[in-house]
Amino acid sequence: MAIERTFSIIKPDAVAKNHIGAIYNRFESAGLTIIASKMVHLSKEQAEGFYAEHSARPFFGALVSFMTSGPVMVQVLEGENAVLANREIMGATNPAEAARGTLRADYAASIDENAVHGSDAVESAAREIAYFFSAEEVCPRTR
Ligand code: ADP
Ligand code: MG
Repeated sequence: MAIERTFSIIKPDAVAKNHIGAIYNRFESAGLTIIASKMVHLSKEQAEGFYAEHSARPFFGALVSFMTSGPVMVQVLEGENAVLANREIMGATNPAEAARGTLRADYAASIDENAVHGSDAVESAAREIAYFFSAEEVCPRTR
């Protein structure tokens, strides 16, 4: 199995509800290691740039408004098949369709405010990690 890195965001709804620790526990309990982490309050420009692939979608304005409504936690997760593993921990985009025990089933209220982001592929993960973190901010384990 491949050791991968993926990019994760705890979105403003879950940060506002004090779920940071619970969500970090899910990552670590599943064997993913947090190798970079910080809290950021995204600007409109940062949110628009991050979600540029969705700029033509009808929900884009609401998505940017939501993502800038409060601070977020951004992190890099490392582990075996980390991209898919994190998507499984997260659950479906729409929490109404998310499997039991997933983050979105447990912490998300709606498809508009769905608690977490996770990269969908190794390539997008590399791009998203570089969007938020410099090389020195990523700290793989040495012990
Ligand atoms: P995911 O976050 O599961 O990768 P997408 O990449 O398809 O999902 O969409 C990015 C984000 O845009 C979603 O997490 C959600 O916050 C929002 N979104 C997606 N589809 C819709 C929709 N139909 N209505 C409202 N918001 C949506
Ligand atoms: Mg996506």
